[in-house]
Amino acid sequence: MVIGIFKEGGNEKRVAILPGEVSALKKMNIEVLAEIHAGERAFASDSDYAAAGASMVSRKELILKSEMLLSVNPPLEEDQNSFREGQILCCVLNPVENKEWLEKIKLKGVTVLALDLVPRTTRAQSMDILSSMATVSGYKAVLEAASLLPRFFPMFMSAAGTIKPARVLILGAGVAGLQAVAVARKLGAVVEVFDVRSAVKEEVKSLGGKFIEVEGAKEDAAAGGYAVEQSDEFKKKQQDLIQQRAIAADVVIATAQIPGKKAPVLLLKETVASMKPGSVIVDLAASTGGNCQLTENGKSIVIHGVTIIGKSDFPSDMPSDASKMFGNNIINLLKIMVDKDGILNLNMQDDIINGTTAIHNKEYISQRVKQMLNVK
Ligand code: NAD
Repeated sequence: MVIGIFKEGGNEKRVAILPGEVSALKKMNIEVLAEIHAGERAFASDSDYAAAGASMVSRKELILKSEMLLSVNPPLEEDQNSFREGQILCCVLNPVENKEWLEKIKLKGVTVLALDLVPRTTRAQSMDILSSMATVSGYKAVLEAASLLPRFFPMFMSAAGTIKPARVLILGAGVAGLQAVAVARKLGAVVEVFDVRSAVKEEVKSLGGKFIEVEGAKEDAAAGGYAVEQSDEFKKKQQDLIQQRAIAADVVIATAQIPGKKAPVLLLKETVASMKPGSVIVDLAASTGGNCQLTENGKSIVIHGVTIIGKSDFPSDMPSDASKMFGNNIINLLKIMVDKDGILNLNMQDDIINGTTAIHNKEYISQRVKQMLNVK
């Protein structure tokens, strides 16, 4: 098989495969092409790719010669005309956001593998790009908050007096939230955590955080480990308690999400007005509406002296390791799709392949895509 690596468009600094992972593909008997300057924003030069065994080509040639194309984000709209029937595209899809794009490429007969649809099962853990990128986001969110906060994170006892540790409130203890707990604790902060899934209580405690329980949370085993929408009564109770804890906090890291839905609003504007001036809120749920009522996606704003960062693209700010994790996840996925001679076999009986395939033979395959887009 011939695999092609795109150079990303827009502000994206990651690349789907770095030179280190090109070598792994070559060992799988896969021929690798990479678009000229594919890795330059992730600090990987064309000569690094060439040394690892990739051939550097123009975008036109890449699309023409590759059987499978890899990218972080869906390729540009204008590339669609160059794709041909039977070609395979593998990227993070965001099906709801890219519904029209997907409809068009479906008509072309291109197979789309959506890396954000890899099932969250134990067998698929090594292919789980959402977890890898959430790890980066949780880490970076805390560092960003620490650098903006006009106070120390750790406690200090010095000749100049005692400095109390910063208090960090984390909303949502999924992969990003738990990473944020770990980093904030390593920096010496006191950490409190809210989540609606009781299963994370022990994990939060083992990382040194305090889990704040709100009674009456709705949980649904059929949601596959994800959170579900809560009742109005629960929301009110939770908002009151969050208000109390946010007023005491110096930093809030907001990560709460419900798949396919708008993010729950957990921090009201009145709460922000009561927070200490100089406090920092980092809202990782910004692209789905934000957990804070005042969040503006892609912007950093200051209201009542509180800095609110609405940012969902931290992985692009750490392109070297984010791309490395991304590439390793792709390689682990390819290992279940490619035989020892490097020939691709998309076995739709395999739950991971089936769940990840958004479109094949001009039809929607993944049940989750069908549900998200409300199509058959
Ligand atoms: P996510 O990004 O969907 O949500 C982040 C967190 O926000 C979740 O913990 C969720 O419970 C929480 N949340 C949602 N609504 C909330 C509210 N109103 N108040 C407070 N918190 C709220 O989560 P994620 O990081 O993608 O992880 C989701 C699940 O997937 C978890 O159970 C995780 O353990 C599981 N998972 C499994 C695997 C695997 O087995 N391969 C890999 C990664 C994650």
